[in-house]
Amino acid sequence: MNSCPFCGAREVGRIGRERYYCRECCHEWTKGGGEVKIFEVMSDGSVEPLILERDSISHIVSHSDVRRAG
Ligand SMILES: [Zn+2]
Repeated sequence: MNSCPFCGAREVGRIGRERYYCRECCHEWTKGGGEVKIFEVMSDGSVEPLILERDSISHIVSHSDVRRAG
């Protein structure tokens, strides 16, 4: 089952291929290629990419945090 990656609500709607919308917190997100991108829906209907704190998405992007030893 899908749930909102932002607030965890289960009341989510699918609005397109790999694209979902949460009515609880009014955010959209995509899951293309295993990468989750969250967008904030503005009052005029446009969407803005949401930049999250690094720590809060570390579970999503942890694989890109690997340091190179040399
Ligand atoms: Zn939500």
